[in-house]
Order: sequence, then structure tokens, then C-alpha cells
Amino acid sequence: MTTTLNLPEADLSPLDEARAQLRGAIDFLELSEGKYQMLANARREITVSIPLRRDDGEQEVFTGHRVQHNFTRGPAKGGVRYDPHVDLDEVRALAMWMTWKCALLDVPYGGAKGGVAIDPRNYSPAELERVTRRYTSELIPILGPEKDIPAPDMGTDENTMAWMMDTYSVAVGHTVPGVVTGKPISLGGSHGRREATSRGVVDVALAAMESRGLAPERSTVAVQGFGKVGRGAARFLWDAGTRVLAVSDQYGAVHNPSGLDLPALEAHVDRTGSVVDFDGSDSLDRDLLLELEVDVLVPAALEGVLTRENAPRVHAKVIVEGANGPTSAQADQIFKDNDILVVPDILANAGGVIVSYFEWVQGNQSYWWSAAEVEERLHTRMLGAWEAVTSYARAHDLSLRSAATIMAVERVAEAHRLRGLYP
Ligand code: NAD
Repeated sequence: MTTTLNLPEADLSPLDEARAQLRGAIDFLELSEGKYQMLANARREITVSIPLRRDDGEQEVFTGHRVQHNFTRGPAKGGVRYDPHVDLDEVRALAMWMTWKCALLDVPYGGAKGGVAIDPRNYSPAELERVTRRYTSELIPILGPEKDIPAPDMGTDENTMAWMMDTYSVAVGHTVPGVVTGKPISLGGSHGRREATSRGVVDVALAAMESRGLAPERSTVAVQGFGKVGRGAARFLWDAGTRVLAVSDQYGAVHNPSGLDLPALEAHVDRTGSVVDFDGSDSLDRDLLLELEVDVLVPAALEGVLTRENAPRVHAKVIVEGANGPTSAQADQIFKDNDILVVPDILANAGGVIVSYFEWVQGNQSYWWSAAEVEERLHTRMLGAWEAVTSYARAHDLSLRSAATIMAVERVAEAHRLRGLYP
């Protein structure tokens, strides 16, 4: 049984994908149309204009958004993305997926997402600092450790979080480490946060491989994206003994049929800023990476990359979604027909929000855990979620995505039911 019936002709936008997944869960759980309407729309949205004085004195204006999809189970939580393609509907979709991710992993948060339509590569650190501070100051009334807690996402990093924390703290008159997660460790960040998403991706990738009889040392991998998520995922899969045949970034892809030397590749990326022209590899068309003959594919760049068009040519046996929303519903159906196991984003890449939660807990208690403690607790939570989702999927004959979404929506709907409808 599947909840993705009546598929449309074309791939949908991320927001329509997210709403279709919600519709499937609502129907499965036999919840009301009113509940669907409530959860299909964000609780709170803000769009702001961000004027920037450039280093050369010229002025430019950007648009930023923050969407708090739901905060019924706790403060809203979600990353901030700097990317030229950011728009409100994309942020809405990403915020909704954050709600499901937090509910699925049972961290006491709702879901949010933010974004600024800017290409960070074209601006100096000082300019990015000014953009971040102005964006943050526009959002101050709706941010806070008990309201909404941003974290890094595409195009942002721990420096961005340090500027956000400082801007917020200056405005309220005291230091508030818990207003963001993914901070530098010296400012109250958590050990293990930087690599948490990648570690979680690899925890479930190895579990998924085991479920398909794929031993790491005999398995091959391709990873799309070599940023905060993709780079760590490639490295930890390499550490686990798999052969990483190809990786890509926005500039191109590199391939070695005998396996890339990951430490040497990382050194090359640190030196040049891209995977392109890595000595121990051949170059490969960036998007063909998705269609390579590998056992495991990890899309870890952006949404909407696995579509009805390229899905029939995907050879991987297991797809582990490091990115949010990389697979369209049409592609999902094709993967199901071709017996390709898809580990959905809200499960696979939840390691980041789990350790963000650990960071917030440590900050609230002013008490710090060791790297080993963080890693162990992350591992336990990821594997617990993997077990829960796979057994729910088996019991109800569902895809892992449908099972994960249904479990999450049920938890959020239950919180709504218990709190009641005000007034
Ligand atoms: P990032 O900005 O650190 O890295 C993005 C990477 O993707 C870069 O290497 C970039 O060059 C590459 N890329 C961009 N366009 C590409 C293309 N067309 N083909 C191949 N590579 C391309 O971002 P990130 O934090 O690693 O996030 C990646 C994805 O993971 C996003 O979907 C994000 O929402 C999701 N995610 C991130 C986190 C986190 O903790 N950072 C947590 C959960 C989910």
C-alpha cells in the first residue's frame, strides 16, 4: 500500500510535494480536512527587506524570509539558507519538513526555516556579516530560545550563527547562547554539531545497507554535494570501508572507479574550494553522478534533483537523502517499482537537529558533554528512529517516507488535540 496515489503528470514544487505528503498522511490517519488545512499552512511567516551597504559604498537590497510552520510541540527550529534561489514557497516547504523531522525524532521542537535570496560567494565576509545582522534584527521579535532557534543550512555556517547570536544578545541586553545552534564551540556550541548531520546520514546509510545485504567493504557510493553534509557523509562512509566512487559540488563532479582517496580530496577542496581537478580522479558531468552504477547514492546538495526524468536511470540500490526534498513523488514511485530503498530526508538528515537539541540543552544547563557522549547519544537516537520507522513501514506496508511522515504527523496532530483549539 502507498499513500502517493493519483500522481500528477509533472514533478511538483517543493511546497506542493510537502503538501502532497501531508495529504497522504492525513488520509492514512483519517484526520479531518480542517487538520490538513491547519498543517498545510504555516503558523507564522515574515518577509523582510535587507538593505546592504557594499564594501564599495553602493547599496543593494535582498529579500529574506522566516517561516514558523508549527510550534505546538515546542519552540520552532530550523536552518537559515543563503542561496540565490530562495523563495517563500521553498522556505515554507522546508519549514514543514522541519516540523515532521523534529516530531519523528521526538525532539521537543516545532519546525521553522529561514532564507535570504543571496549568493554568498559574491560577497565579502564583512558584507555577509552586515546582511546577517540586518536580517536578524528584523526577526528579533519572533526569535529566542523559547520561540524560534535558527541553525546553519546551505550557504551559512557557524560564523553566521555567531553574528545572529551577537545581534540578538545586544538587542536584548544580555548574552543568549540558546537563540541559535550550530555556534562555534567557544561560544557555547556543542562538540559534534558540525559533523552531526553527516554522522546521522551514515548511521542510517549503514543500517539501510545492512537491511539490503550490502557489506560496507564490498559497497560503492556516490555523494552529490560536498558541503557541510556531503563532505562528512563521504568521509564517514569512506571511514566505514565503502569505496566512494564519485562526489560533486556546484562546479562539477569527480570520479574514480577504484574509489576516491577521501583525505587527499578533502585537502584538495581546502586548498582550491572545489572538488574539480582533483588529481586522483577523472572529471564527470555534474548531474550524471546521480546515475552512476553504485550501491548507495547520497544526494546532499539541494531539493528536486531526483525527478521522473532521471529516476529511471538511477542504478543505486539504496538512496539516503542527506539533502531536504531531493526526490519528487514521481521519482519515489519509480524507485519503489525498481526496488530501490529510499531513506527519507526527515529521518536520514535528522542528526543535525538532534545535536542542535543537545546543544540547546547543554546551553540551558550551562553544562557541557564530551564529543564521545554526543556521538553516542546521536547514534542511539538515529538507530532508534531507523528501527521505529522501518517496523512501522513493515507493519503497514508503506514506504519509509510515508511511514516517517505519518508517524510525525500523528505526533503533531496529537499535540494539537491535547492542547485544544484556542479560543
Ligand atoms: P552547504 O552550503 O554546506 O553545501 C552545499 C553543497 O552542495 C556545496 O558543496 C555545493 O557546491 C553543492 N551544490 C550546490 N548545487 C549543486 C549541484 N547542482 N550539484 C552538485 N552539488 C551542488 O549546505 P549543507 O548544509 O551541506 O546542506 C545541503 C543539504 O542538506 C540542503 O538540502 C540542506 O537543507 C540539507 N541539510 C543540512 C543540514 C545541516 O546541518 N547543514 C541538516 C539537514 C539537512
